[in-house]
Amino acid sequence: MLALTALTDRIRRAFPEAEIRFREPMARHTTFRIGGPVSALFLPRGEEEATEILRASHELGIRPLILGNGSNLLFSDAPMDLIVVSLRGLKTIEEKGETVLVAGAGALLRSLAEAAAERSLTGLEFAHGIPGTVGGGVYMNAGAYGGEIRDIFVSARVLTPAGRIRVKSGEELDFSYRHSRLMESGETLLSATFRLQRGEESAIRERMAELMQKRMEKQPLDKPSGGSTFKRPKEGFAAAMIDGAGLKGYGFGGARVSEKHAGFVVNEGGATAEDVLKTMRGVIRRVEEVYGVTLEPELRLVGVEL
Ligand SMILES: Cc1cc2nc3c(=O)[nH]c(=O)nc-3n(C[C@H](O)[C@H](O)[C@H](O)COP(=O)(O)OP(=O)(O)OC[C@H]3O[C@@H](n4cnc5c(N)ncnc54)[C@H](O)[C@@H]3O)c2cc1C
Repeated sequence: MLALTALTDRIRRAFPEAEIRFREPMARHTTFRIGGPVSALFLPRGEEEATEILRASHELGIRPLILGNGSNLLFSDAPMDLIVVSLRGLKTIEEKGETVLVAGAGALLRSLAEAAAERSLTGLEFAHGIPGTVGGGVYMNAGAYGGEIRDIFVSARVLTPAGRIRVKSGEELDFSYRHSRLMESGETLLSATFRLQRGEESAIRERMAELMQKRMEKQPLDKPSGGSTFKRPKEGFAAAMIDGAGLKGYGFGGARVSEKHAGFVVNEGGATAEDVLKTMRGVIRRVEEVYGVTLEPELRLVGVEL
């Protein structure tokens, strides 16, 4: 891959300490613990390095995949001709004014919620248990227990595919259920600004603990997964339909519909992407037969198709 060699040379010249891993298995970077090797994984330590990698990629005709915490991704098992840029190194969290926090794309939502609690700021309790980053959270408009990223979102600094930095408002990101404009625009989120409300630290921590307790009771957090496999259809809840269709425990190879929460497909050990996909196809078919509803994946698929 000539373009990859050119990209690597350029980045190493500008950032001699740059971390670049070749043929890196994505199983190491996803909560599903599934995924074959990609051509290269870049792990920039800050925004300057990240923007240089993305600008140089554009100039060389490369379209890299941005990786947050890998908690919503299913990669192919086969080697992929793909360059991945992890933004986990962009993890600063700063206070701007009384109730505003600015976070780098790679900051974990959990860390952001902790930072808010420390400052007695309320509004992020819902996000504390979502195992993603700020970038992945905004991209997906992540949400839980009645809250969504868009409720607290003010603006984001994004890098356009052509390498320009722009500030985008919530309106411009056009949030809806598990959707933001970033899915179509190809822009990379570098940092985001959130507006919270003054609250009581003890009440905020109590709410976070209560929601974590609920998660632990209901979700199979002891097993690798990609979270909810399917989006909530307008007709009801995916988990209730999957359960109602008798599919708890259904699966192929190492992949199973969780016995604890039918909305999750879990990796029982050694599951391949194909095991997960076969399981998903079977679930979609059966739910269609029983409920006449076609479930759509919430998981983002890379190098594979349903
Ligand atoms: C146990 C478990 C529980 C979960 N619970 C919830 C829940 O309650 N609510 C919920 O909404 N989700 C939940 N999820 C799913 C997941 O955590 C969220 O979708 C999260 O927002 C994904 O963030 P991430 O950083 O892991 O993104 P990744 O999985 O790394 O990436 C997801 C997508 O975002 C893109 N992306 C990531 N960062 C950027 C960036 N900086 N700029 C542009 N694009 C970017 C990626 O290219 C990819 O297409 C859960 C997952 C697990 C494993």
